[in-house]
Amino acid sequence: MEELERMFELFPEKEYPNINSAFRKLHANLMFRSERAMVSISGGADSDVMLDMIQALNPAKNYPFAEIHFVWFDTGIEYTATKQHLKDLEEKYGITIERKRAKTPVPLGCKTWGQPFISKQISQYISRLQAHGFQWEDEPFEVLYDRYPNCKAALRWWCNAFGVGSMVNIERCRLLKEFMVENPPQFPISDGCCKGAKKDVANDYMKELKATINMVGIRKAEGGARATAYNSCFSEPSKKGEAAKFRPLFYFTDQDKEFYCQRRGVVHSDLYEKYGFKRTGCACCPFGSRFEQELQAAEQLDSGLAAAAKNIFGAAYEYTRAYREFKAKREAERKAQGQTSLF
Ligand code: SF4
Repeated sequence: MEELERMFELFPEKEYPNINSAFRKLHANLMFRSERAMVSISGGADSDVMLDMIQALNPAKNYPFAEIHFVWFDTGIEYTATKQHLKDLEEKYGITIERKRAKTPVPLGCKTWGQPFISKQISQYISRLQAHGFQWEDEPFEVLYDRYPNCKAALRWWCNAFGVGSMVNIERCRLLKEFMVENPPQFPISDGCCKGAKKDVANDYMKELKATINMVGIRKAEGGARATAYNSCFSEPSKKGEAAKFRPLFYFTDQDKEFYCQRRGVVHSDLYEKYGFKRTGCACCPFGSRFEQELQAAEQLDSGLAAAAKNIFGAAYEYTRAYREFKAKREAERKAQGQTSLF
């Protein structure tokens, strides 16, 4: 197949083993699994690369039996630049990207279940504790488990009882427990909006299509819960009738991605090219460390969107800011004490 050979020439195995092998696997999956393929396009840099790889193999010519559905899930709080980028991609590759609205858009999800705080996993544990009327006591696991018998996993997180050095323990998030004991959250926290705005709608669409494979642009190197949830680039369906999952870029390093984009002339959305975003997703999501920068950028780009984000995530922003101040204050106190004891 000439297109595949061309990609092998462009990305020789010796110099670019990750890219070369990704093309081999992509070809195999398009050849044998793509009767009804769902390809999730987020408008972010990784999905740009994934889309370019698929189109580089010329599916219409080389896999005429493949039914490829490109789809974008609209969470209800999206940058105009992302929507524009989808149009640009459609034009560039001559494809249609289906737009699917969230079952529960983020604004409604946050109202219904609570606001996201720090990360998906932390929000889940806090949500569970809140549902059981937890009073944020700093007591041993056995005592708390006796008092709140129906939220064992969340209590193990709170009490650092997942084992010494476990990544899951609350102590992995510096001073979070101390902060929460002194400042219990006064608003509901949850990762429910992710489920309602992304997961549910993607699952429904996969069922509707009877998808044989689901391709997503996740890279191991990006870290975070999304990437660490997987060990490899491929997952077999867990039961009959489910789609296999393929992550063509899973082993791409940052350099691989950069090199790929240079060689193939892949251009990302204005959020990256003009505003220096490192990743995209729902506008100004409180997860991660960059929401302040995102808010600033959103003020310039889309002031209505920035106002909406403040309205939807306001309590989570305030709580995160208070936590950051708490950490900074403790750090300053620790330094001052160190100096005093030195003298
Ligand atoms: S990325 Fe953030 S705002 Fe978007 S659905 Fe997930 S938690 Fe909610």
